[in-house]
Amino acid sequence: MTNSHKTKLTFFLIATLTILVGAFVFFAQSSGKESRLFTKADAEKQVEQKQTQAPQEPQRQTATITFVGDMMFDRYVRQMATTNGYDKILENLTTTLNKSDLVVGNLEGPITTNESVSITSEIGARNNFLFTFDPQITKTLVKNNIEVVNLGNNHARDFGQDGVEQTKKFLKDADIDFFGDTKDGQANRALIKELNGMKITFVNFNTFTKNAKQNTKDDIEAVKDKTDFLVVFTHWGQEYETLSNDNQKNLARSWIDAGADLVIGTHPHVVQEKEVYQGKTIYYSIGNFIFDQFFSTETKEGLIVKTTFHKEGEEKTITFEDQKVEMKPNGTTVLKE
Ligand SMILES: [Zn+2]
Repeated sequence: MTNSHKTKLTFFLIATLTILVGAFVFFAQSSGKESRLFTKADAEKQVEQKQTQAPQEPQRQTATITFVGDMMFDRYVRQMATTNGYDKILENLTTTLNKSDLVVGNLEGPITTNESVSITSEIGARNNFLFTFDPQITKTLVKNNIEVVNLGNNHARDFGQDGVEQTKKFLKDADIDFFGDTKDGQANRALIKELNGMKITFVNFNTFTKNAKQNTKDDIEAVKDKTDFLVVFTHWGQEYETLSNDNQKNLARSWIDAGADLVIGTHPHVVQEKEVYQGKTIYYSIGNFIFDQFFSTETKEGLIVKTTFHKEGEEKTITFEDQKVEMKPNGTTVLKE
């Protein structure tokens, strides 16, 4: 081999090696580049997937319910309505009441086609305390958003079992829901109401039934795990007393200990105090809403309680807005100035 041949071979070898190394570096780089690009795109895809697969933020749900007190559509209220029309009674409150999702109140007597016996009776006579309401009140209730009523009170059976049956029929026909204990041992005392995606349950305590305490306890136990909010709506306490008694306090607190979120009281015909116990609110009595007891300032006044139920995931809160109402001598109820 001559020197020139050697030089040529060396050059050839170096050139080949250079090409090979160059090619290797190029492929290594480009494949590295490719793999980096892929990784980035893949990562973006994964992020995208994560975003779509990640559990959604809990939605904030809200529902508003206005609670009103005792509603009595017989005696003087009936006389005035017969002259002026039933819609006149709540004419000044219709706008306010329709601002909530629902209004819930105590229907202090049956709806029947029977004639009133209280209108023609002497004040203080037995018949003066037997109430029956004209079936056309259901239109007034619906117009004012009162679409859930409590029947568990001392006047529900003023016209016997027939009166209770008629009441339920007229309410059903008008799409008004009801709950409550009109008679000891009666089934379906609680009402679970769906509002804006939440379940709000109404349980009654009617002190005028024999096993009221046990029944309410049983009802709370039966529904507490099936509902977002549990309201105990009571008919109890001493008439015309502006403060609650120990019995009311012990009962209300025991229901909250058992899982109730709110207690709303009726029957004393006057407003009683409210209390916050374990972070839950107890309205011992919200007084009258539609009544003809004009003999004292306290019986002419009542509270309407606008309640907002919030739920966000496991977190639940209730906020309140109280407004005073006044029953006027013309048989109407208005916001108190
Ligand atoms: Zn009562």
